[in-house]
This record gives sequence, structure tokens and C-alpha cells, in this order.
Amino acid sequence: MAAAAVQLTAPIQFIKGVGPARSKALEQLGIETVEDLLYYFPRRHLDRTLITACRDLNKGSTVTIVGEVKSCGIKTFKRGKLFQVLLEDATGYITLTWFNGVKYIQNSVKTGDYLAVHGKVEYYRGFQIVHPEFDKLEDDAERLSTGSVIPLYPLNQTLRKASLEHRSLRRFIRDIQSKINIIDDFYSDKFRNTHGIIDRKEALTAIHFAEDVDQLKAAINRLKFDEHFFLQLGVATKKNNIDKIGTNPLPKTGDYAKAIYSQLDFDLTSAQKKVIQEIANDIKKPVMMNRLLQGDVGSGKTIVAILTVALAVDNAVQVAVMAPTEILAEQHFLVFKKFMDEAQIPTALLVGNLNANDRQKVLRGLKNGKIKVVIGTHALIQQDVEFQKLGLVIVDEQHRFGVLQRGDLVNKGQNPHFLAMTATPIPRTLSITYYGDMDLSIIDELPKDRIPVTTTVVQPERLNKVYDFVKEEIKAGRQCMIVYPLVEESEKSDLAAAVETHEYLSDKVFPDLQVGLMHGRMKREEKDAVMNSFIKNEINILIATTVIEVGIDVPNTTVMIIEHAERFGLTQLHQLRGRVGRSDKKSYCILVERNITENSAQRLKIMESTNDGFKIADEDLKLRGPGVFFGIQQSGFFKFKIADLLTDGKIIRAACKAAFEIISDDPKLEKPENLAIKQHFNQHYHHVLKGSNIG
Ligand code: ADP
Ligand code: MG
Repeated sequence: MAAAAVQLTAPIQFIKGVGPARSKALEQLGIETVEDLLYYFPRRHLDRTLITACRDLNKGSTVTIVGEVKSCGIKTFKRGKLFQVLLEDATGYITLTWFNGVKYIQNSVKTGDYLAVHGKVEYYRGFQIVHPEFDKLEDDAERLSTGSVIPLYPLNQTLRKASLEHRSLRRFIRDIQSKINIIDDFYSDKFRNTHGIIDRKEALTAIHFAEDVDQLKAAINRLKFDEHFFLQLGVATKKNNIDKIGTNPLPKTGDYAKAIYSQLDFDLTSAQKKVIQEIANDIKKPVMMNRLLQGDVGSGKTIVAILTVALAVDNAVQVAVMAPTEILAEQHFLVFKKFMDEAQIPTALLVGNLNANDRQKVLRGLKNGKIKVVIGTHALIQQDVEFQKLGLVIVDEQHRFGVLQRGDLVNKGQNPHFLAMTATPIPRTLSITYYGDMDLSIIDELPKDRIPVTTTVVQPERLNKVYDFVKEEIKAGRQCMIVYPLVEESEKSDLAAAVETHEYLSDKVFPDLQVGLMHGRMKREEKDAVMNSFIKNEINILIATTVIEVGIDVPNTTVMIIEHAERFGLTQLHQLRGRVGRSDKKSYCILVERNITENSAQRLKIMESTNDGFKIADEDLKLRGPGVFFGIQQSGFFKFKIADLLTDGKIIRAACKAAFEIISDDPKLEKPENLAIKQHFNQHYHHVLKGSNIG
């Protein structure tokens, strides 16, 4: 019936029978149009053929169970409280146990509720699941659906108040969907066939009302593809735009670069040479370089940066080098300055707590062009910092900066060439998505005299043995670092622990040695003094909070002891470990496990088993999710409805290829077969391009 036909863009509130309460509840979730509603995807699907009956439970298996809450309540035991639920189905019962978050669970589960729970079956005075995932059903699953797949929606108080729960929401969606006349696809048949994805209407139907699991899988695949594809369209467009930004070409290799090259007391690795060539090729073109240099800790990125700086200065432009912490900026400054002085390139340091006079001097030098190279922190992107002719920006430890700051420094010049460096190997699926607009250079080789670091996990009881070993290493002229975690929530006690250890070790354990202490609360001069003594080997053992996490280079250090290792992520541990093994001497990393936390044993084992940063990054991604790599949540870069960076590797690669192909063939999406794609992008994904549209 034509009269009942509803368009995708129709506002929900005007649809007959919806009512103000519901439309208001939906609006609060950002659901305003019919299309929005269809894109309100189930959080999970319950496959009825995969529900396990309580009588068939086995210890150790991971199951989904549907049943009714017979009783529930809080139990107090020696070390705290727990909340338990007795869940019963037609064949038996199981206990559900929550140790923490008791309040929240307690408020949401009550006797008589139907739950679908998912988790690993354990045995403790009967079968139980600890901390199961769970969904509340309105009813016994048997009566919930005719198909075998039951959608479970993300529900909240607002929806419940508007009487929208799993079943009613599903009925509501069904009802509205039946009124829609057409759901157009934005892909052509040819495109769908090429990429093996189903039609949009089919997908939007099956995601809510799949008859079987195969249908559901095809729907999920298509909808995930969409999200990755449109995100990649944005990335490809960005890359395409950047590749066209005109700027000063820097074609000359002159005396500065030669002078520095001749100072090196080692041969560059072939990976370093290759990367320098890639950079030189980029900057000699009259378009902006936008390159990410990835190289594991200790692979020698700094010297690549130094040679790149010299190339730029050979072409009469200024260079800014930005580091995430003052300590690192200062250390870079020392290293850079040594080379720059030889080549007579005026170089300055700009960090936050420079005194006003010194700061003014640097600012003047940058503005009038007398200073060629400036090394600094966030202080470089402050308003009053002006350059005469900024031609190259290098950012070290890129992953520590937000996206915003990277842009800020680039904006200071007339489109300076841009080189980012990172020692955090980023899993491929992530770099496609988050650095897809950059060209990638990889140093996949360590200087050849390196011996792999040996990593050992120890319990605190064995520390005395470890200290004996440290004494031997120091007798042989080497140095040692002891790192303490420092996190905001427990900053005070963390700091206290580091201070206490310093006292204990210098008085009791190493009375004949110099034990230094460095932490974030110290003044810059104090930190400098300690660091310099350590560099000069006047301090044998340096105790530090994680301020040394990035970049520090004291090759004579051969022992790294990481305290409370269980509190660090793998990527961080790998970074810390990278502070040793930086010379031709054998090095050791000791991970002290003080407490057993969630999968800590597993994590520390991984550290013992490999030195490969990429493997470690992949494991970290699996264990902790993508947020660990760049604080993605914070930057709010992109929020997926159904896609998942962790598990969609194959789809991501396919979507990425498809998007880059389309953009290279039709950059503005003007061809007739691409118009619908463009429209959908501009409607829903324009924020990927920071608010601007394709076209
Ligand atoms: P990262 O990539 O972690 O920043 P660095 O640039 O700090 O590593 O280099 C680590 C150490 O290796 C430094 O002491 C540096 O001087 C040295 N180094 C760099 N390249 C080579 C090379 N080709 N041969 C020998 N040593 C090198
Ligand atoms: Mg470095």
C-alpha cells in the first residue's frame, strides 16, 4: 500500500503509532530516523542451537545457558563480598558468581528474571560461572523467536522505561521495517559481486531477523565491510589530498649532510640506508612528505632523524624536532647537538620550564632564522613560537602524541615535510586504519652487533640473587636501571615505593655503589644532574619511575629490573626493555612479579618468549584492545557500530583495497556508479575527514 510507505530518512516521531514516549527515548540514543533505527544493531545474537542445557554442563567448557533466576543474594566471606545467582533451566541449575561490582549486578538482577549467560564453566561445590556475560531476556527464550537466532540489543534504562526490551524492540523494528518501501544500496551489483557481499536491504533485515546463522554471518560481514570501507574512503581521500599539498622541495644533499655522515663511527644498517633513501626521495619533491617511520626500540631511528635534519638544513630551511617528554627532548638535544656542532648547524632546545630570558632568545632565533634546528616538547606548539622558514617537522615517539598536536606543529610552517617516528610496532590492521594516510618506512633490522636481551620473570623472594648479579655486572663496568610504575591513581604510594627502595638499596644492598633516583616530581635541573651522572657512569644504578619509558639511550646499561611488572602493558614492557641491549654487550631484563593480576602470568611469559616488537604488539592488541596504542578512546577518532579492529583483519584489508582503488580511479566520486557511495559518505562519515565532504 503506497499510503503506508515510509522513507529511510523519515523521522521516527512522525510514524503512526510510535508515540512521544518512545520517540523521545530513541532520540536520546541518537535514533531519529527510520534509517537510524535499522542501524541500531543487536549487541549479540543468541544462537538457539548453541544453547547448552544445565544437565549437559562440563567443567572447563565455554557455554551459553538460558534460564530463570531462582534465587540471588550477597554472601560475605573472609576476603570480601560476592553476589550469587542460582539459575535454573528445564534440566537443572548452575550458580553464577560475581566478586566485584556487586552493587551494579545486584541492582540489575532479581528473582524471576530470565537470563542468557555466557562464560566458562568451573566446578566449586557444583557447576558455576564466575563473572559471566549476561543479557536479561523478557521471557523464556523458547517463546522469544521462531528462528534459531535471537538478537540481544544494547538496552538501557531509557529504553526499558519506554517498554522497549529485546523482544518489543525487535517487534517495533519489524513493524517499522514492514512499512518501508525501498532500501537502496549504495553499491552497484558489480561492486557487491567483486567483494562477495550481500545487498544492503538483505543485510539490514537479517541483522535483526536472521533465520539461521549463515544468513546472520553474511549480514554481519556486509555491515562490517561498510564501516571499514567508508572509514577507508576517508583515509584514502585524506592521503590523496595530502599527496597533492605543494611545498618547498628539498632536493640538495650538501655539506651539512656530508659532514655528519663522515662523523659516524659505525656503518648504517641496510634498513637505515633504505629508509633515508625513501625520505630523501620524498622531500625532493614539491609535495609534502607525510611519512611514518616504524622501527623497533634500538633499531637506530635517531641517526636517521639526524641525517634527515642535515638534508633539510642543506636546503636552507629550519627543522623542528618534537619529543613527548622533557627528558627525552633534552637527551635528543644532547645527541643532536654533538652532531650539529661538528657540522656547525645552530641548534636550540625549547622546553616548558626554560627561564623567560632563554626562551625569548630561542624565540628570536627561530623567528629571524638564525637557529636552524630546534628540539623540544609541547612547548614548540605554543602560539608565540614563530619560524622564519620551517621546512621539516620530525616527531619522535609519535604514538605518545594525540592527533591534534601533530597537526598543530605542521601548521606552523608553509606545509613543512613531516616525519613521524615510532618504536611501538603497530599491528597492521591498526596502522591501516589510523596511519593509512601516511607512507610507511620500516627499519626491520637491528645494528648487527646486538645480542638479544634475555628476559626472566622473578618473584620478589629471588631479588637478593638478582642484586648479587647486578653487583657482578657493575664490577665489570656496566650499569643497571630499576624501574617503578607510576600511575595517577596510586601516584603517592608508587613514588613512596621508589623512594623507599632507593634508601634500602643504597644503604643496605649496595653500600659501596652509587645509586641514583629520578622521578617526575623532581625539578628539571635535578633530573638533568642525575641523568648526566648516569650517562657518565658516575651513577651505577638508576632507580626511576616510568619517566624513562621512552627513548633514553645509555648503551652501557646491561641490566633492567622492572618492578611490579604485572602492572605494565606488554608494549610498555617492551619499550622499557629496549633501554638495554643497545650495545655489543649481553643484556638482561628482570621482570619482578609482585601480584598476580588478570592474565599477568600469561603476559609476562610472552615477554620471556620473544623480543619481536610486532609479535608483542599483536598480543597486546588481543589482550587489551586497540586503545592501548594511541588512546583512541580519548581522541574519539572513530566509533564503530559493528566493526571490530581486533577481529576484522580480513575484512579491513579487503575494504581498504576497495576504497583506495575507488579513490585512485575517481578521487571525487563523480562517476555515476559512485554517486550513491559519495552521498552516503557525506551523510554519515564526513567527520572522518574532520567535517569536510568528499567532492
Ligand atoms: P631507537 O630506534 O630506539 O630510537 P636509537 O636511535 O636511540 O634507537 O639507537 C640505539 C643505539 O644504537 C644508539 O646508541 C645508536 O648510536 C646506535 N646505533 C644506531 N645505528 C647504529 C648502527 N648502524 N650500528 C651500530 N650502532 C648503531
Ligand atoms: Mg628513539
